[in-house]
Amino acid sequence: MMYEKIAENFLKNNGCLLLNHRVVKINHQNNKIKSIVISNKSKQKTISSDSYISSMPITELVQRLSPQPPKEIIQASKNLHYRSFVTASLVLSSSEPFPDTWIYVHSPEVKIGRVQNFKKWSHFMVSDPDKIALGVEYFCTEGDELWSMTDKDLIELALTELEKIKLIKKSDYLDGFVVRAEKAYPVYDSSYPKNIKLVKEYLANFKNLISIGRGGLFKYNNMDHSILTGLYAAENLLGASHNLEEVNADQEYQEEKTENGD
Ligand SMILES: Cc1cc2nc3c(=O)[nH]c(=O)nc-3n(C[C@H](O)[C@H](O)[C@H](O)COP(=O)(O)OP(=O)(O)OC[C@H]3O[C@@H](n4cnc5c(N)ncnc54)[C@H](O)[C@@H]3O)c2cc1C
Repeated sequence: MMYEKIAENFLKNNGCLLLNHRVVKINHQNNKIKSIVISNKSKQKTISSDSYISSMPITELVQRLSPQPPKEIIQASKNLHYRSFVTASLVLSSSEPFPDTWIYVHSPEVKIGRVQNFKKWSHFMVSDPDKIALGVEYFCTEGDELWSMTDKDLIELALTELEKIKLIKKSDYLDGFVVRAEKAYPVYDSSYPKNIKLVKEYLANFKNLISIGRGGLFKYNNMDHSILTGLYAAENLLGASHNLEEVNADQEYQEEKTENGD
């Protein structure tokens, strides 16, 4: 609802919003982005601007640059990985399976990672008070077995597993659908600090390009952090000098352990 409102205001102020388009190429020259090529499957179009703000995954941003960055930068971007995410959303006639908004599932006999109980977030999220809606979440990697399952098989898996851990009865199932989110989590593996440093240092050469957001900064940002990086990027284009890397730095600091393990 919030993003719909933002889009509405943007259009009212003569903004041009193109949904369902992919940026397929980013043309640059003399350390400046000159134009981007966008595609909506059937047609391609080139757009030029003075400045560019990107929230696509930083790995894709690098790999779409034309001419291509040096080999070591491309390799560093390929060595950065994201985890993806599949949700089987189920509508059931049961009563609440648990009183919480969500629970993490650690039972080794199932692949479920987390279950959302949408009605507990807000009753507005389930239109019929006699029904419940659960989001059965699986963490996966793009292209792996879970990611590639058909929607029908994923719904069947979710129902079977929920029944196995005694949260629902399969016979209460009414309807369902599947949502896939690619590159949902940046993977902080042992080589990511070196790789992200190389990629970000290279991108810093482009003075009219700012990469923002969660995938764009390769940082475990929440929605408020992601939005703030967008606001800061816009202000920087107007002359401010915010450091986007400092957004969400407090939390990392708080989560840091001291040498004593505190
Ligand atoms: C499972 C999950 C649960 C979360 N829960 C919470 C929560 O409870 N609270 C909270 O605050 N935050 C939560 N977050 C984090 C929050 O969703 C993110 O911080 C936020 O959505 C990131 O916004 P963004 O604009 O940076 O990126 P996204 O929302 O990921 O947007 C990036 C967009 O770029 C598009 N894109 C990719 N490639 C291209 C291309 N080549 N051309 C054009 N477009 C492209 C993608 O399709 C996508 O729409 C959660 C995230 C996940 C994955």
